[in-house]
Amino acid sequence: MEIIPDIASARTWTQKKRNSGKTIGLVPTMGALHQGHLELVKSAHEKADVIIVSIFVNPAQFNNKTDFKNYPKSLESDIEKLSGICDMVFSPETDKMYPEDSKLTMDFGEITAHMEGKYRPGHFNGVALVVSKLFNIIKPDFAWFGQKDFQQFALIDRLNNELAFGIELIRAPIVRERDGLAMSSRNRRLNDSQRNTALLFYRALQEASEKLLKGTSVKIVKKDIAESFRKARDIRLEYFEIADTELLKPISDLKGYREAVLCIAGYVGDIRLIDNTLLTLDQNSE
Ligand code: AMP
Repeated sequence: MEIIPDIASARTWTQKKRNSGKTIGLVPTMGALHQGHLELVKSAHEKADVIIVSIFVNPAQFNNKTDFKNYPKSLESDIEKLSGICDMVFSPETDKMYPEDSKLTMDFGEITAHMEGKYRPGHFNGVALVVSKLFNIIKPDFAWFGQKDFQQFALIDRLNNELAFGIELIRAPIVRERDGLAMSSRNRRLNDSQRNTALLFYRALQEASEKLLKGTSVKIVKKDIAESFRKARDIRLEYFEIADTELLKPISDLKGYREAVLCIAGYVGDIRLIDNTLLTLDQNSE
């Protein structure tokens, strides 16, 4: 496994592989790797000949400086985890990825109007910037992203289509801890009690799904979730939304929808967590 921090060398390395007829798979990450990331790498083995994992904590996507400062970093152990399961780790320096202040802004319209786009101004612009840079440097045939960041995937899909990157994107399912907590690099910052409290996000999604499938209205379900968070201690709900899976528009009535995505975000202490679940609706809801 090669570890390449330099952009020009990463380009040359991938170019060589491409010239020898190999397909390239890219798994972009911000490091502090967990099983969720490793499952993306595993899935990459099913399609690509050569697998590249990028590790880059992208300052442009943090709308909160403290969050960026506190974001867990563990390059050495990440490299150990990847050893033998990927072909190249691309770990560029920040000043090489951003040699000057970025001026480019991208507007994704409706897709980013709600949820993460609303509560983290500038976040998706930073995501779009870094993903575009990675796509241009690596020029992968395939790229893997997690359903954990559902809205992010929708945006990258749009980016890929509108800018004609021509990459096949794969959305991998959410990997959870045994008790249901969605794996996240930020979970490392939770103490035992916070770890327990954080489960409420997953439980809320489950409870909401069950109620919606039984026919409870969107309005009541949202009210109940807000209420359960108001009662809980040491946890703060930022949003709970039921949205369509294409444009991520909030839905107020499930009639006519075949599927929806339930998205949740909030804080345990100063640690921001997100989660979501897909809801498949049967004929009765039409
Ligand atoms: P991150 O390092 O958090 O930026 O995540 C890198 C990639 O891993 C993104 O595409 C995430 O959606 C994905 N990812 C993060 N957590 C999980 C998880 N628990 N299950 C599946 N994919 C994940």
